[in-house]
Amino acid sequence: MSRTTVATIHLGALRHNLARIKALAAPAKVMAVVKADAYGHGLERVARALDAEAEAFAVAALGDGLRLRAAGHRQRIVVLSGPDQPGDIAEMQRLELEAAIHHEAQLAWLAEASPARGRLRAWLKVDSGMHRLGFPPGRVAEVHARLAAMPGVDPRIGLLTHFAESENFDGRATAAQIARFDEATRGLDGPRSLSNSAAVLGWPEARADWVRSGGLLYGLSVVEGRSGADFGFRPAMTLSTRLIAVNRVGKGERIGYNGTWQCPEDMPVGVAAIGYGDGYPRSAAAGTPVLVGDARVPLIGRVSMDLVTLDLRGAPRARVGDRVTLWGPELPVETIAAQAGTISYDLTCGMTRRVLFVED
Ligand code: PLP
Repeated sequence: MSRTTVATIHLGALRHNLARIKALAAPAKVMAVVKADAYGHGLERVARALDAEAEAFAVAALGDGLRLRAAGHRQRIVVLSGPDQPGDIAEMQRLELEAAIHHEAQLAWLAEASPARGRLRAWLKVDSGMHRLGFPPGRVAEVHARLAAMPGVDPRIGLLTHFAESENFDGRATAAQIARFDEATRGLDGPRSLSNSAAVLGWPEARADWVRSGGLLYGLSVVEGRSGADFGFRPAMTLSTRLIAVNRVGKGERIGYNGTWQCPEDMPVGVAAIGYGDGYPRSAAAGTPVLVGDARVPLIGRVSMDLVTLDLRGAPRARVGDRVTLWGPELPVETIAAQAGTISYDLTCGMTRRVLFVED
């Protein structure tokens, strides 16, 4: 394992971000979304940092709920994709995990759940327009009644939906989803949850009883063209490595695989110990910014498995061993994601096991 490439997780930033989401969402409560290993920041680490302040966690899979309970967390935990197979139900009852119920198949499994194991808390997921998971609006009242009558289910049924494009603050799609959800759930009892991070910022009318926030918790951008910092959030991850070579390369020579970048003059070229084998995106284009010490220099040539090459003309004093920062508070991960044709979530989720994680 490399000890050179390090992801530093800023626990203070996580706490700051949760406090800020809570302030923005109040009086709604906040589910801290820690699915996908807490967006790549480390599930147990993030949950430990937020334990005193998080009122609930949300995960994608039962296994993540199990990890949280094993680490001693007693909060409410919602499994956003619910049980995936019949055997999950008893396990969820045992661990007191809450299930998002989105499909007829799950209703059949739940109907068999024994109340002797404890009554499972269920969130009925409404498909208000994203067409990924959920019951169509026309079925919500009937499914709600069926769930509430099941002996193994807690009769306080939650009502949940997810937005497809809440980052478009003036778009019609989210307003239409809110209206469909309201219409479908009118007159039904139970806590409601609609908003993800972007909706917390842009759709105050959708805050309801619980918001589910992931991206902002990690200080990530949830609105295209804006960074988390633009809204007062702090990045929770810094990805860094070291320069392991500084070479002089002559005018006209080509750098890296397939020689995609040609030196316009004799120049210093730095080689840093990180590549797509660590999770740095192979698609990062030449020109993607990288910090060598405090100097911002462009990436040149192709990203390889273990290495990237850098134009060091802007950092003439750079030496082997110098710290290289790929993203973090001084270099928004959104900038790198844009250069790589993806989003920040994709990058933080993509760190591989070769990267050493530390906390500060
Ligand atoms: N709720 C559901 C159902 C989700 O799938 C997600 C993430 O994809 C979230 C909430 C959190 O979204 P965000 O990270 O944008 O806050």
